Amino acid sequence: MSNGRRPATGNRYRTGYLRSPAWFRRRDQWFTEQTARTEELRCVVCWQVAVRRDLELHHLDYRRVACDRGRWRAGEEHEDLCAMHPGCHELVHGIIEADPVLRRHRSRPIATVHAIRVARARRAAHAEAQS
Ligand SMILES: [Zn+2]
Ligand SMILES: [Zn+2]
Repeated sequence: MSNGRRPATGNRYRTGYLRSPAWFRRRDQWFTEQTARTEELRCVVCWQVAVRRDLELHHLDYRRVACDRGRWRAGEEHEDLCAMHPGCHELVHGIIEADPVLRRHRSRPIATVHAIRVARARRAAHAEAQS
């Protein structure tokens, strides 16, 4: 198992899914539900309020995504997904990619939570350096 964005094995599973109508519907549904729950959307990394078009969804867990005879099934729980700015999302993936332990030896939810913590610390240090 790998949490890398482009696993060495050339896994097309995630890229195929992320272009499927099943995912587009699940993503719409996630934003609708999140807005109903919290009224405003925030990036989980920098915690700034954001609008939907400025956010991407990151998968904490792909285990409930299935492919059944070529048809994708989006079974993610709400908590399997979280919203991030594209730049914050890149940062999180960069942190996971750069760390062999996070990439290979931690579950994806744990790797993500750890990477978000590191990303926040980096952003805070950066803001400090600029002030
Ligand atoms: Zn952000
Ligand atoms: Zn992601």
